[in-house]
Amino acid sequence: MPVNRRRFIQGSTGLSAIGAIGFMQNRYCLAAKKKESSAVPDLDTPLFIATWPFGKASCEAAVKVTRQGGSMVDAIEQGIWVTEADVKNASVGIGGIPNAAGQVELDACIMTGPDHNAGSVGGIQDVLHPISVARMVMEKTPHVMLVGDGAKQFAIDNGVSPTQLLTDNQQKRWQDWKKQQSAEKPKIDEDHHDTIAMLGLDSKGDLYGGCSTSGWGYKIPGRIGDSPIIGSGLYVDNKVGAAGATGLGENVMRHCGSFLVVEMMRHGATPTEACQQAIQRIAELDPKNLDNLDINFIALNKQGVYGAAGTSQGFKYSMADPRQSKVLTAKALSEKSIGPEGGNRK
Ligand code: ASP
Repeated sequence: MPVNRRRFIQGSTGLSAIGAIGFMQNRYCLAAKKKESSAVPDLDTPLFIATWPFGKASCEAAVKVTRQGGSMVDAIEQGIWVTEADVKNASVGIGGIPNAAGQVELDACIMTGPDHNAGSVGGIQDVLHPISVARMVMEKTPHVMLVGDGAKQFAIDNGVSPTQLLTDNQQKRWQDWKKQQSAEKPKIDEDHHDTIAMLGLDSKGDLYGGCSTSGWGYKIPGRIGDSPIIGSGLYVDNKVGAAGATGLGENVMRHCGSFLVVEMMRHGATPTEACQQAIQRIAELDPKNLDNLDINFIALNKQGVYGAAGTSQGFKYSMADPRQSKVLTAKALSEKSIGPEGGNRK
């Protein structure tokens, strides 16, 4: 049955009723149930949301792919291509921030709701579109995740041509960074990172997601973040909803962040509430306090309601459907502003 406005209204009403029970039971609830204020649900499908303002072009491209007859998996993959191929984007694909050894190592994953399938690559070098290699892992192998040289060789064996990813600009920045580091204790740059996580809902009410990043700037070679880890950087549950993460991956992956967001939705939270509740739960368990976690989530439920929340002020996310596209500001849980120099946070 196509997702339409009537079904959305029915879905919302159902959620409110469940949510009311959740509110009584769940001490993480922040406020009485109400409709999402951060987004006006629009049931024109397909609907895509993505992290950060740079995700808008990817969401628009994804809508276009479906209009031209592409599948939702094509749309997620090719939508993310746009960000991966943008040399000006300093945290995804070509032009991404290198590791401490000056090598660009990329992480990506993809997930499909109807068959609950997933594919992922971690720490892959010299590949322009890690999202496509993640898709190949999902579709062509019995595995979920390949990493490092094995992932690169798999990509080459499947027809991918190696690409030089380190741009002159990033090489210069890395050299400057290196000069400033003491030999004994190199500092990993916490302010240089960002990810595209993209979620999509089609007219059948099926959910899809993908994620791609160069990860934490000047990370220790071999470090893999939350982004390619199913349940951390991305999770899709076709019965409930989907969620994606961006921010300091270590603070997401120790808590299975995106899975947690989806579970909050399962228990009745709206997408924005689910993101807020997951962050609060993480803050409660994590030795770092809320101000220092630097994590953000986006979420989309099966009824087409979407939302987002971040630890700090300034996290933005994007949406597109066949009628419109826009950038929205997420709920912030603390007064602190997001890092000034975060990879692409403007
Ligand atoms: N989560 C990514 C990582 O830790 C980076 C980011 O989204 O800012 O690799």
